[in-house]
Amino acid sequence: MTFTTTKSKEIFQRAVKVMPGGVNSPVRAFGPVGCEPVCIEHAKGAYLYDEDGNSYIDYIGSWGPMILGHNDSRIVEAMKKQMERGISYGAIAKLEVEMAELMVSLVPALEMVRMVNSGTEAVMSAIRTARGFTGKNKIIKFAGCYHGHSDSLLVKAGSGAMTAGVPDSGGVPEGCVQDTLTANYNDLESVEALFEHNKNQIACVIVEPIAANMGVVLPKEGFLQGLRKLCDENQALLIFDEVITGFRLGIHGASGYYKVKPDLITYGKIIGGGMPVGAYGGRKDVMSVVAPLGQVYQAGTLSGNPVAMVAGITQLTILSEHPQIYATLKELGDYFRESVRGVLQETKLPFQIVGEGSLSCLYFTKEPVIDYATAKTADTKAFATYFKQMLERGNYFGPSQFEAIFLSAAHTKKELDKTLADMKEVLGAK
Ligand SMILES: *Cc1c(COP(=O)(O)O)cnc(C)c1O
Repeated sequence: MTFTTTKSKEIFQRAVKVMPGGVNSPVRAFGPVGCEPVCIEHAKGAYLYDEDGNSYIDYIGSWGPMILGHNDSRIVEAMKKQMERGISYGAIAKLEVEMAELMVSLVPALEMVRMVNSGTEAVMSAIRTARGFTGKNKIIKFAGCYHGHSDSLLVKAGSGAMTAGVPDSGGVPEGCVQDTLTANYNDLESVEALFEHNKNQIACVIVEPIAANMGVVLPKEGFLQGLRKLCDENQALLIFDEVITGFRLGIHGASGYYKVKPDLITYGKIIGGGMPVGAYGGRKDVMSVVAPLGQVYQAGTLSGNPVAMVAGITQLTILSEHPQIYATLKELGDYFRESVRGVLQETKLPFQIVGEGSLSCLYFTKEPVIDYATAKTADTKAFATYFKQMLERGNYFGPSQFEAIFLSAAHTKKELDKTLADMKEVLGAK
């Protein structure tokens, strides 16, 4: 096998001297799988190409944004055109209004929306808005759900922290997380108990409608509806963190897909078409507390950046004009999971393949995965070995057991079949 990573190694050696861990986001360092990362030189369609000329079928899609595949020419052209007109204005531009109108027109639960620069910022601001609107301080999140790296949300925060075995982060004062209560995913009783013990103190419940930061955990029938009911009974807001699921499960997002209407929704990833964009929005009366309309302050120098807006608008417009993209992604996802099930049967491995649409996860455990505790039963060492062997064969998965497998519109059965054949070889050799 001719898998060499000489150039990637050289670059990474330079990286660790000048960047913490050699990266700008922890999981890129391949820490959880215990090998050196490869450095990407360019990307196109369903493929990543590294500095040594190795190519990979890409199953992370920049962790979600690249739902049309890498370097979609329509997005690139639109961005080039905008760049000639200005890269940032710091003043109102029609593009921001078009972006907001587009999102509001596509998602029934969205009446007003504010653009920010990342998913982290979106969630942080949505929580502040919920607290400002309700006048209450406490929030409920779920173990294993990730909502970005703002202080109050770094509690049982899923993938990155999960593999490292450090559930909370250093540098976060206890005071910042004392109002963050943690419930168990798919367990309405755990939510009910928190409401019971904190009467009239809960501002909001925040949930990933599909939990995609502890692998992929699907909501049980009635779970999201149950959250809606509990929030209504306790005058708390329901926030869907759709940074991953937004415009991935379907054009109306998870709230449309599962037909549950949250009060606020947070976005990131897909809505930027690969550019750093986030957004939060929802009920008009709730969003009306945000400055300059209301008392909840939130701002951003580069928020609504015109080049980023053009990328996002182009991607969302393509998705809305071609609804068959979602049907194809679902078909591909179902085919992938069904085929993996076949491989598992053949290799007699008791692992779990879980997913919905273009999101999947292969858990190295015999336990059905329904929450954080069951996800944690996965054999991360076995995953690490599998990961390395799949990488060498040209398959780029998230370098952790607890990352989702993302499919894009640029993937075809050809790519999946190649990966499935490699999987059979790697898993069967055990
Ligand atoms: C990625 C992610 C975030 C954070 O978004 P960033 O753009 O990385 O700050 C928040 N919530 C969920 C569900 C995510 O997957």
